[in-house]
Order: sequence, then structure tokens, then C-alpha cells
Amino acid sequence: MRVGIGYDIHRLVGGRPFVLGGVTVPHAQGPAGHSDGDPLLHALIDALLGAAGLGDIGAHFPPSDPQWRDVPSGVLVERVLHMVRATGLTPHNMDSTIVVERPLLAPHIAGIRAAVAGLLGLDAAMVSVKAKTNEGLEAIGQGRAVAAHVVVLLAEV
Ligand code: MG
Repeated sequence: MRVGIGYDIHRLVGGRPFVLGGVTVPHAQGPAGHSDGDPLLHALIDALLGAAGLGDIGAHFPPSDPQWRDVPSGVLVERVLHMVRATGLTPHNMDSTIVVERPLLAPHIAGIRAAVAGLLGLDAAMVSVKAKTNEGLEAIGQGRAVAAHVVVLLAEV
């Protein structure tokens, strides 16, 4: 077994879809970013790469590279899964926490969980997506950012 941890944070700006785990959540703002800015999938990518000892998202998908502009982050997850599986490892389970003040994510958690499980090729029972607010504190609490924490366990194939 190999464990990996990932973290990401994006500013929230107007005129961007609010994408979490590949699911668009209705909201007036969305994460700024070179790709779709999906913080959950970016943290997942870093957790997968970290567990496999393959570096980080910035090394593989540099923001300076125009080919990643507005790319759905699920496409990046698929590429990373190929790299991970080439090392003889495959995802076993993941846990995550999204930190955002609004919108309320409770109605969307099941859909996000199913979408991430589909990306990872796992049963939804092996994928956990939790959400909480930042209690009004700092940038996230003021509704100016969204963050995500992810832990992944990889097993030998
Ligand atoms: Mg990011």
C-alpha cells in the first residue's frame, strides 16, 4: 500500500462554472484557473502522484503550457491514472474534504462522489467526499476561495 496527500485552493471569481469533482454546481462564481480550476480533482491528482512518487501536478501540467487551458480536470486525472498504473499501482480508496463557505454542497455530495468514483474506477463505497465551511474565517470564510484536501491509498495491482 502507498498513501498520498493532496491539497489545492482556487480563488472564486464571477463568470466561471463551479466545478467540483467534474460536477458543475449552480453558483454565481467559480474557481479561477488555467484549466477548469476543479480543486477537488487537482488535490486528487497531487495525492495520486504523491502516492506513486511521481512528482506533482505543476510538473506534469504546467500552467504555462497552453495545451491545458480550459481542459476538464477529469482528462488530467485519466492521464495521471495511466502514469500510476504504469508503476504497478492502482487506487484502493480515497477520502476528501472540500472547504467552501457557499454554495451549500450537501445536495451535491452524492453526485460528486459518484463522479469521482467513476473517474477512479472504484465503487462509490471506496470514495469519500465531505464538505465543510471555514466558519466565516479568512479568504475561504469570506467566500473568496474554495479548497480541497485529498488522501489516496494505492495498492499493488
Ligand atoms: Mg489547482
